[in-house]
Amino acid sequence: MRLTILGSGTNLHPTRAAAGYLVQTDRVLLLDFGPRTLVNLIKMGVDRHRISHILFSHYHADHFSDFVTFFFDAVFHSKFVGPRPDLTLIGPRGSRRLFGTMLKTFPGFNAGRFRVKIREVADRGFLLGRTRITPRTVVHSPRLHCVGYRIDYRGRTLAYSGDTQYCEPLLHLCREADVAVLDCSFPANRPGAGHMHAGDCGRVAREADVARLILSHFYPIAERFDVKRQARRYFGGTILAGRDLMTLSV
Ligand SMILES: [Zn+2]
Ligand SMILES: [Zn+2]
Repeated sequence: MRLTILGSGTNLHPTRAAAGYLVQTDRVLLLDFGPRTLVNLIKMGVDRHRISHILFSHYHADHFSDFVTFFFDAVFHSKFVGPRPDLTLIGPRGSRRLFGTMLKTFPGFNAGRFRVKIREVADRGFLLGRTRITPRTVVHSPRLHCVGYRIDYRGRTLAYSGDTQYCEPLLHLCREADVAVLDCSFPANRPGAGHMHAGDCGRVAREADVARLILSHFYPIAERFDVKRQARRYFGGTILAGRDLMTLSV
């Protein structure tokens, strides 16, 4: 399994794209699709017209807005350039309403020559080919259903927190993962609501017994402190600070 970070920042970060990850197994999967991640996907040499599944953690714009550009382009491509596979959009409760409205309302969005399937998930695993996906509800924002994803393929495990505060379900999501990509919005000395700080990330990595911790989803304030060192106070395993276009084998 291969992981590429398309975006390690947040909505209007000056040097990083917002949330987005490319996961390659027997499938090519996207986890979240925040602003500026589409350009990074193209830079990776991935043919966007072959992407058939996108998994969303939740619909804050920093995880979502490049989907609009991507989809408009996909419609155009299917009408005027060449075929593309059907597209399955996977996400938390509210996905059906959101995408249903978009497809009906955004000009041209219902004109694509491919089918769009929308799948709402909560806490039950499923298979895409030989890749097992296990979504899990995490705690991020009141009234908003948010999930993280655990991806198992050929005996290796990647966990992605989405946006979350420290919570029990996150420990299950990350249990003995080879790689855990966690929401490190804030430095430990400047915590903020609804997200983890670097110390929380270290704590989750230790309590869930993960092998490698990747800190990501940095707000600009997180750049001003040594978040790796803050996480290391709690966790003795490998810690990486995520960077856009960083790619690693899980
Ligand atoms: Zn969020
Ligand atoms: Zn976010």
